[in-house]
Amino acid sequence: MNIYGITQAALERYFADIGENPFKAGLIYDGIYKKGIEDFAEFGFADRVTARLKADLEFEFPEVVETLDSEDSAKLLLRLKDGEYAETVLMRQKFGNVLCVSTQVGCNMGCVFCQSGRMKKRRSLLAGEIVGQVMAVRRELGADIGGVSVMGIGEPFDNFEEVRNFCGIVSADKGLAVGRRHITVSTCGIVPRIYEYAELPSSYNLAISLHAPNDELRSRIMPINKAYPLKEVLTAAEYFSERTGRRVTLEYVMLGGVNDLPEHAKQLARLIGSRSFYVNIIPYNPTDNGFRKSSNEEIELFRGVLRKNGIVATRRREFGTGLKAACGQLRADYERDGL
Ligand code: SAH
Repeated sequence: MNIYGITQAALERYFADIGENPFKAGLIYDGIYKKGIEDFAEFGFADRVTARLKADLEFEFPEVVETLDSEDSAKLLLRLKDGEYAETVLMRQKFGNVLCVSTQVGCNMGCVFCQSGRMKKRRSLLAGEIVGQVMAVRRELGADIGGVSVMGIGEPFDNFEEVRNFCGIVSADKGLAVGRRHITVSTCGIVPRIYEYAELPSSYNLAISLHAPNDELRSRIMPINKAYPLKEVLTAAEYFSERTGRRVTLEYVMLGGVNDLPEHAKQLARLIGSRSFYVNIIPYNPTDNGFRKSSNEEIELFRGVLRKNGIVATRRREFGTGLKAACGQLRADYERDGL
């Protein structure tokens, strides 16, 4: 088993099962995450314990296939144990480094503007493979991670258990200790899982990829909307925010001439109503999907209408456009050209 995929609670149970003090789990967490230890021999445990740990657990790192680095961001393409690829993007923000992690190989959600969906889901990633993205970035770039966005390739709520364990592992105080309010899981809106997420004993932030202010348009660009229409998604999001006290972000990617008209902003404001969601406007990262990026003027007009209607709307800084950082782009190129 990969040590990076084991929650502290599970590691405590493991030690109890082999007749050892569960307290050792905290020592391991501290050693591997805070001190970067990659060998059980360095813990100074009795020989039989070390031998047992070595037999049962391994330090599994993905292989770094490609690193693209620029001033404000870096992107790593990683090869997993079975030869599949995952990618992760580091965003160097003023207040610290935020890592965007992938949760699946490919994606089945089929959003028409998104590159990731071009390749159907091949499999979901294990928690240890998601943590592995953090470990690989730390090792490769020497970067400390202050926040995590679960917004890379894949639909996190189509891989709920592993994503939940991932969040638990990276936020553990004795481990990487990423603050829970610096962890955000982004979903296209799988409603039952939003309710499940709201009931987790420790909560993290929630972002919803909304991208359209009415069902007709949303169903056209995001097929998941046919199963879980807007009203249900927003009701679930509101439940989450009431249950956890956390604010929900609605992501809105600006597709030129498709969903970015002032009329759409008005509809969006009406849809949100008095709920305390805030909107994150995402400039579209152009791919060859047939959509165009909204102009600055279009984006500012849209944002202005939201603001006039009392909706807090921020605009996402564009990271790594030169790095092919839009979901799945590096990987797609790698498959096409072998880079
Ligand atoms: N499946 C999850 C998380 C992964 S996608 C979700 O849907 O939220 C992360 C975000 O990037 C989503 O909001 C997605 O719609 C958006 N996105 C996809 N392709 C994009 C592109 N080319 N430019 C900008 N944002 C994009």
